[in-house]
Amino acid sequence: MIPIPPHVDMLLAALRRAGYEACPVGGCVRDGLMGREPADWDLATSALPEQTEAALAGYRLVETGLKHGTVTALTAGGPVEITTFRADGTYRDGRHPDSVAFVPSLAEDLARRDFTVNAMALGPAGEVIDLFGGREDLKAEVIRCVGEPARRFGEDALRILRALRFASKLDFSVEPETARRALADRALLDRVSRERVMAELSGILIGPGAGRVLRQYGPVIFQVIPELAPQAGFDQKNPHHIHDIWTHTAMAVDAAAPEPVLRLTMLLHDVGKPAAFFTDEAGVGHFYGHGETGAEMAEGILRRLRCDTATRERVCLLIRNHDIKPPKTPRAARRLLARLGEDAARQLGACWRADNADRPAAVRARNMALIDEWEKLLAEALAGPAPCFSVKSLAVDGRDIMALGVPEGPAVGQALEALFSRVLDGELANRREELLEAARDMIEDCNPRGTDV
Ligand code: ATP
Ligand code: MG
Repeated sequence: MIPIPPHVDMLLAALRRAGYEACPVGGCVRDGLMGREPADWDLATSALPEQTEAALAGYRLVETGLKHGTVTALTAGGPVEITTFRADGTYRDGRHPDSVAFVPSLAEDLARRDFTVNAMALGPAGEVIDLFGGREDLKAEVIRCVGEPARRFGEDALRILRALRFASKLDFSVEPETARRALADRALLDRVSRERVMAELSGILIGPGAGRVLRQYGPVIFQVIPELAPQAGFDQKNPHHIHDIWTHTAMAVDAAAPEPVLRLTMLLHDVGKPAAFFTDEAGVGHFYGHGETGAEMAEGILRRLRCDTATRERVCLLIRNHDIKPPKTPRAARRLLARLGEDAARQLGACWRADNADRPAAVRARNMALIDEWEKLLAEALAGPAPCFSVKSLAVDGRDIMALGVPEGPAVGQALEALFSRVLDGELANRREELLEAARDMIEDCNPRGTDV
């Protein structure tokens, strides 16, 4: 029995009291059968949206998608989407049904759903209503279209990416015919909005099966990010690498913690490699400057996919810096920290580790030791009494400099920069008295007393 939380049970009871069918459906049933806590509960009902609203008159309701028959109830246990049984009409544009028909039966509603494991409901006695073999596929850990994959992907191409997303998220395989059509019909993805592509791509990347899905479905990913296509099978001809670039990329994604920024960075970190590739006289491959080239390409890709600005900027910053060597001295570490900021500096360490997971053992061990050392230096730099990694965090400001007789203008900023540089280098502590003293000396050096200026 899947336990139904009280806030969901109350909604079901209210709809049933009013004479309608109502049942939990989709992801919550799937997650419940897998013994996982469902992220959210979706209900399907025979009530039309206005009937749902009448039956749930005591609730706070939001008309989230009336056209599609969805009303959201805001309950103490969280929002619950309640959608009228529906069948989708024809899909002329391969993404949006031209019409949505409300239908009287749950069976028709389940038939329009994407995959068998997503097409189950819970009946009034808590029984699992499973018309398409969803339980069997759950047991076999398989993503399979409800009905014929060619038709289902033709109706809605987003389902191609959804198949990969669930394969990654649940760490399932994709049933062979569904997989074959996902690859064969990938060009249909050109019709899907970029926001939706981005959302599914993020879902694919943060799942436990991400690396495997990327390796198996490269062409699908290349359909939405053609810039990655040259990586497939690309021989790096370099003793620091074992695999072709795409395989390396997939392995680097897996080796990063499942956070969107890190995984997206690893997906795109070597996007600049094929363009930067050349072989030296000995036939060894090099990729000088691929961090910079890659960051520029990533910028274009993430803008095109309507990625949010904060994520895009961070990912590009990390890609731009991923191919530098970890600093080995306190001074170099402080300088890198000052350039990136604390968050990005930590993330860069995580990216170096992920990038380094797929290397010959000796190279990996050497690089990991360098990264360990950098993380130690980073921790030390951050542990100081008044850590200072930007001019703004100096213990003195422009007013102090002017109080020492420097006239307002560029010289004030230059003085602060000079102090900051010396703090970074460890020559000065970030303490007010010490900084004022140093500033006085600097000003005197520039303008010795008694000389006319
Ligand atoms: P998650 O836990 O990742 O949210 P979910 O199963 O709830 O998984 P949603 O994207 O929230 O996935 O969709 C809810 C349900 O709606 C799915 O389980 C599926 O039955 C149905 N569904 C969603 N999108 C589609 C689609 N494009 N085509 C067919 N059915 C869909
Ligand atoms: Mg959901």
